[in-house]
Amino acid sequence: MPNFDKHKNFHANKTEPHILCDMHTHSENSHDSACPISDMAEAQIKKGTAVFAVTDHYDGCYFDSRDIFSDIKNSVKDIDRNIKKFDGQIEILKGIELGEPAWSPEDAAKALELADFDVVIGSVHAVRYKDIKKPYSMIDFSDFDEGFIYDYADVYFDEMTEMAETADFDILAHLTCPFRYINGKCGKNADIMQFEDKIRSILSVIIERKIALEVNTSGLYLKNPIIMPDEKVLDIYRDMGGRLITIGSDAHAAENAASGIHYAEELLKKAGFSSVCIYRKRIPVLISLN
Ligand SMILES: [Zn+2]
Ligand SMILES: [Zn+2]
Repeated sequence: MPNFDKHKNFHANKTEPHILCDMHTHSENSHDSACPISDMAEAQIKKGTAVFAVTDHYDGCYFDSRDIFSDIKNSVKDIDRNIKKFDGQIEILKGIELGEPAWSPEDAAKALELADFDVVIGSVHAVRYKDIKKPYSMIDFSDFDEGFIYDYADVYFDEMTEMAETADFDILAHLTCPFRYINGKCGKNADIMQFEDKIRSILSVIIERKIALEVNTSGLYLKNPIIMPDEKVLDIYRDMGGRLITIGSDAHAAENAASGIHYAEELLKKAGFSSVCIYRKRIPVLISLN
């Protein structure tokens, strides 16, 4: 187990009463959002959210084209301002979404030194597959045959494994996310369960390291809706002993604040989970689902 996991030696023996939590949102400090945190906070309040995390992008794949450290510094300042502004109305957690932290562990560590984060999300948005290193959200998978798609997805799961084994983070985000684009957007019918062995090994690493599994609801409103990960993967996680779960809308705009959170809660209850968690100062707090 990596050295930086020491803070995870908590004893979660208490579950707090149910509140609505959205552990994954973006603001105008992300390259793909124009949403001020104050607009997100107001929209979350209207939805009845009690706690949400602002988790702006630090994406390894944009390292050469953007000053990501400045994005994160601005995000942190903005979060601090809004924590004060909305004090007493909604709790805002200081987060970061590390994309591809395994591509440059030194830089990912530097990003984590920029603030005293409440929560760190670990993500893979791009894959080192042959000469295609752009984010998979920018690949038109409708142009590709099944062989390419399964090869590409295989490398994605290897990237997720490397991140799960080596990087410093609290929540494994949107497991199976390329299928949001392959199936959800491009209408293919690729079978995620072809990768069951790799999925099991990723889950076993995060359970061992006390990293939470995220249920990401951002694909629920596509033409072919997809929840990441789906019920089958959640069943496997539960059967393997996984208990730490977070729910995130991954909203990049105020109108998507807390979207799908109630749906995900019901799904988790049906799958036999009794709590989700939030993170404060990188320590999980269990929140009852009932
Ligand atoms: Zn992401
Ligand atoms: Zn995100």
